Amino acid sequence: MEESSQPVPYVIAGPCSAESPRQLLETARALKALGIGVFRAGLWKPRTHPGGFEGVGAEGLAWLQAVRRETGMKICTEVGSAAHAEACIAAGLDMVWIGARTTANPFLVQEIAEAFRGSDIPVMVKNPVSPDLELWAGAIERFFSCGLTKVSAIHRGFTTPYPSPYRNAPLWELGVRLRLQFPDIPFIVDPSHMAGDKSYIKELSQKALDLGADGLMIESHYAPDAAKSDSAQQLSPEQLGQLLEELSWRRADSNDEWYLSRLESLRSEIDHIDSSILSLLAERMEVSREIGRLKAEHNISILQTGRWEAVLCSLRKAASETGLDPSMVEKIFNVVHDYSVLEQEKGKD
Ligand code: PEP
Ligand code: MN
Repeated sequence: MEESSQPVPYVIAGPCSAESPRQLLETARALKALGIGVFRAGLWKPRTHPGGFEGVGAEGLAWLQAVRRETGMKICTEVGSAAHAEACIAAGLDMVWIGARTTANPFLVQEIAEAFRGSDIPVMVKNPVSPDLELWAGAIERFFSCGLTKVSAIHRGFTTPYPSPYRNAPLWELGVRLRLQFPDIPFIVDPSHMAGDKSYIKELSQKALDLGADGLMIESHYAPDAAKSDSAQQLSPEQLGQLLEELSWRRADSNDEWYLSRLESLRSEIDHIDSSILSLLAERMEVSREIGRLKAEHNISILQTGRWEAVLCSLRKAASETGLDPSMVEKIFNVVHDYSVLEQEKGKD
């Protein structure tokens, strides 16, 4: 049976950068009318190249305060140094986020965390630019160790050397792993910086919700084409309203009986399959040790790249024929092979 009420969406929205008091207020009024409760705007902009628009700086704090006074929305911005952190505390901002370039720098993160000590301001930690889960986790830990309790994560995608239609590859599996590592902190997805272009924001937002994200941070500007930063990825408030209507918001759980019993039976199927995979892996590793012994007896080196290339090639082909994603199969078997090489090493002693 369908449950009728939609879960309540948690959305943070606002422009990439604060540009003028009017731009902030007009954007905020329109976002408030959509029911959005938290307003974002970057004041200090970490630009890749010098000479671009680097933000309005501390002057914009008063503009954000005006947004809060007029609309009642919560206000937040990015902090990239201890000085920014102190300015945000002094201005009474409701929350802050740590940008991707800052998360990548443990010295800066530590300084910012120290500056926030005692304030318990909510801090949202974006993933670092590189696909390094431990840097992301480490930054979150630094805020907790300075006594902050309202820490959350923002997944905004990663720079990778592989071609991707997106500005920052989502690498969803890293987000999933972070959630498993910090199951109790809110997990927000920023589809805007993943996308780089407004045409991808809907598919990325839906994927985030399907994976169980607690909320979305989406860039919105009252005149996106005139935005001084990230113009291609910002939605007008009207486009954002349309997007929010079109998304299916997922619940974390349900107590529908039919759903629960079907889920239990599917989960037990999965458990059964996992245990078969495990037995097969154990069998495979035993064969690897045997091969290791054989190669050692004949004084043959363990790694034979030609053989592995051939195996991967036929696995990719078999994957396509069975409807599996060849890149997933390749990833899994590369790990199996790494460990298989280690087992062969054991076999040689
Ligand atoms: C931003 O939110 O405007 C921003 C600079 O984000 P990121 O750190 O994800 O690049
Ligand atoms: Mn931006």
